[in-house]
Amino acid sequence: MFAWGVAVSVRAPYLLLMPLADHLAVPHGTPFRLADLDPRGKDRLQKHTGAPDSKEAAQAALETDIAAIADLQYRLWAENRRALLLILQGMDTSGKDGVVRHVFSGVNPTGVRVTSFKKPSEIELDHDFLWRIHAATPARGEVGIFNRSHYEDVLVVRVHGLVPEPIWRARYETINAFESLLASGGTTIVKCFLHISRDEQRRRLKDRLEDPDKRWKFQEADIEERKHWDDYQAAYEDALTRCSTPIAPWLVIPSDHKWLQRWAIGRVVRETLEGMGPRIPKPRIDVSRMTMK
Ligand code: AMP
Ligand code: MG
Repeated sequence: MFAWGVAVSVRAPYLLLMPLADHLAVPHGTPFRLADLDPRGKDRLQKHTGAPDSKEAAQAALETDIAAIADLQYRLWAENRRALLLILQGMDTSGKDGVVRHVFSGVNPTGVRVTSFKKPSEIELDHDFLWRIHAATPARGEVGIFNRSHYEDVLVVRVHGLVPEPIWRARYETINAFESLLASGGTTIVKCFLHISRDEQRRRLKDRLEDPDKRWKFQEADIEERKHWDDYQAAYEDALTRCSTPIAPWLVIPSDHKWLQRWAIGRVVRETLEGMGPRIPKPRIDVSRMTMK
């Protein structure tokens, strides 16, 4: 069913060489249940990709990946031809902000654009649902990070019936066409679903309530949203299968352990950039002829 399930039967050496994203990708059009995937993910990941088995090992590996990402991002920016778009989705407290803060701690902010999508404004609602999204996509040379995205329009919108069902149902196809448009324009898309368990969310929400430094993050709506947990999981299952395409697959990131989550996303981002192989352009001038007083 899942790449990481199928992978067990394939030859072991290949498994270690296989990009991490292939282990985590959702196959297109195959229904699955998120409840069948372990949000701690340790067992599967460790067996097949040599993932770190402790917080310390994960942090050390992430440090190396952060440095590699910084170098690759410099090249992507200099090359100025293609873009990377990372889409982060997940339930409240799944760690979206933390991923941005940690995985991208080494990059040059000039070439990186983070957009957090909130409830659409009046003006945004007067346009099609992709209007505000398209405007935020990364330009050539940039890395774009979406904290929430157009997927909210088939998630929160579906769970709360904010538009009639035929309208949100039609959006899966629209989203696939939109992402295909971005890809054909030179944007590589990485989509990560940060998979946490219901128990872990309870712990994190309680923590937000009890820790004075975290209390600001807490919203009463978070408790209300939690009541819709099962509806959200079902909405995610549909979005992930319908919109996991070869050009923009969905990856399920085990997220109950933040250290494993951050390591996994850092590794995926690094591997993706390495795969793109951005190159610093040749100088536009003949350096040997340049003299300067
Ligand atoms: P936060 O990520 O905690 O800042 O919350 C942002 C809120 O905006 C979440 O409750 C999202 O569900 C909501 N949101 C984001 N996009 C949309 C959308 N297209 N329609 C309705 N609500 C949205
Ligand atoms: Mg919130």
